[in-house]
Amino acid sequence: MTETMFVADVMVGKLARWLRVLGFDVLYSNKFDDDEIIRIADTENRVILTRDAQLATRRPRSQCLFVESGDYKEQVQQVVRTFNLGEFKVFSRCLECNARLEEVDKEAVFEKVPPFVYLTQERFAQCPTCERVYWHGTHTEEMLKQIRLNNDK
Ligand SMILES: [Zn+2]
Repeated sequence: MTETMFVADVMVGKLARWLRVLGFDVLYSNKFDDDEIIRIADTENRVILTRDAQLATRRPRSQCLFVESGDYKEQVQQVVRTFNLGEFKVFSRCLECNARLEEVDKEAVFEKVPPFVYLTQERFAQCPTCERVYWHGTHTEEMLKQIRLNNDK
């Protein structure tokens, strides 16, 4: 099965970041205009995520999702539901530049993370592009729980 990839408009930046948390490939820039978003969607075979009803009419529904809610949690749920996204690869993608993270040895991040994090976490991953280091934080676990809870309704 091919992975669904996305390109997000400027109004859903937070949604884009959260989809990256879940491991999805989401292109996003606050500099993209409508024409550029459509061009990217066409050339890279990406689904458009937009809150712009005008833009949403320019592509068939299977290739463009009009995001209904202003709340990012509901937005994430809508995307997950619509595209049947069941399998999350949490923290496999950089939240800043969308690149796929690479697992790194704990020793290698000693100087790059806060001491408390180093002492309490075992698994780390790093972005090959911007070199940011990631780990499974408590905050993220809480957020994921919330998203899942709402899904059960
Ligand atoms: Zn990065």
